[in-house]
Amino acid sequence: MTDTGMRRLVVVSNRLPVALKQIDGEWTVQGGAGGLVTALAPVLKNRGGLWIGWDGASGAGEDSQRLLDDFSADAGYDLKSVPLSEEDVQKYYFGFSNEIIWPLFHDLQTRCRFDPEYWRSYLDVNFRFAETVARMTSSDDFIWVHDYHLMHQAFFLKSMGIKRSTGFFLHIPFPPPDIFLKLPWRQKLILALTEFDLVGFQTTQDRDNFIKSLNMLSPGAEVEGEGAVVSVRLRGREFQAGTFPISIDFNQFADMAGDPEVAHKAFQIREALKHRKIIIGVDRLDYTKGIPERILAIRELLRHYPDLRGKINFIQIAVPSREDVDEYRDLRDEIELLVGRVNGEFSIPGWVPVHYHYRGLPQRELASYYAAADIALVTPLRDGMNLVAKEYCACNMKEAGVLILSEFAGAAAQMQEWAYLVNPYDFEGVAKAIHRALHWDVEERRESMHELREHVRGHNIYWWVDSFLQAGISKNLQDFPAVDTVRFEEN
Ligand code: UDP
Repeated sequence: MTDTGMRRLVVVSNRLPVALKQIDGEWTVQGGAGGLVTALAPVLKNRGGLWIGWDGASGAGEDSQRLLDDFSADAGYDLKSVPLSEEDVQKYYFGFSNEIIWPLFHDLQTRCRFDPEYWRSYLDVNFRFAETVARMTSSDDFIWVHDYHLMHQAFFLKSMGIKRSTGFFLHIPFPPPDIFLKLPWRQKLILALTEFDLVGFQTTQDRDNFIKSLNMLSPGAEVEGEGAVVSVRLRGREFQAGTFPISIDFNQFADMAGDPEVAHKAFQIREALKHRKIIIGVDRLDYTKGIPERILAIRELLRHYPDLRGKINFIQIAVPSREDVDEYRDLRDEIELLVGRVNGEFSIPGWVPVHYHYRGLPQRELASYYAAADIALVTPLRDGMNLVAKEYCACNMKEAGVLILSEFAGAAAQMQEWAYLVNPYDFEGVAKAIHRALHWDVEERRESMHELREHVRGHNIYWWVDSFLQAGISKNLQDFPAVDTVRFEEN
């Protein structure tokens, strides 16, 4: 990792990288193991860093900070919890964040519930987060705020008269202006984002959408530069807006897939399915992921190409998510009904086309499924990035698989040259893409997968952290080459 100066790094996110859970009446800390945590941990450790966020429990009380301090002693960086009440969780988290920003920013505005109570709660929680940041940090620190729950951090720090160097990264897409403008609090929200010193997006399209909306709501913004990081001047102040596509720990996934136990499990999966062609889908059960549309594409495939009956299997792994929310329960019912219908239509003795798993798998097991699959069907209706697409490539050690990727996933901007791009709403087009991918010859598959793997290997999660910190701390515009945007092509 590039040395970008030894300023202390302070990460601020809705959730801490650990969660407090009550087991048999006792509170315990459970560590997170995602790529982001793995990549940030060494940087935090090297700089005596701090992570500020909610501990995921509303009832741990005074036990919370004591448990986090014990955990910090091993982790090598500090953790500070911002307590949230049940009401905060309902209105700021489930309400404003997940019933307004999440659907709106994924272009699904009809799913939004624009309740003004949610907005007030969002501001209140953001203010309390900012108070904690102000109290726990000094002017030498670099404050890196993550995601759509906390877009008002820089705004509140400034309104308290606190001077800090700040960066923000949006993990989800930024919608085009005609959608963003539907937000009742659009002007306050977009101007709050301009108070950060650096605002980071997943793709150039997201950054352009942001700049277009900004220009419509606050005319006169001047953009300078052409690369991945540009400078924006507005109302006498200047900030950077950059494109930083997030990624995975490539080596960790490749090593896992190369592990004999994982490879053996992959072999067993293929054996159990009698060496039929395996098509895999892996997602949190969320309406942005296009799972029903994907099952309809499989139905279309089997209707249109009857010769494939008995020769393919589609495995959908759906990780339970937001199970308390009605909409997510309805989506689960819809998916289960569709799986039943498709299996009912095509099953024959000894063959059931769709295998549906409603549970999360540990990463090693997931790596076996990735390694076993001939095709990954990654077809979200809209996605900030989609790490599954990158993990599938990292685990494809034999370079024999094909990635079919939605043109509306952030990952398409980087992977479009070598993945098979599809429009997830077009069942017939997706079915045709699967049919074609099943007939790609070995050389074609190897070449594409090789290029995909090389790209992800080079642009891994460490590269991502490094690029953001370089932009945030050293601010060298010319250090940032331009990043691709999606090209739309007819199949
Ligand atoms: N994942 C997992 N177990 C599963 C399915 C998924 O650990 O059974 C992980 C997967 O490895 C990936 C993440 O969940 O890192 C999903 O990330 P992605 O960017 O694709 O979607 P998100 O859920 O963040 O919208």
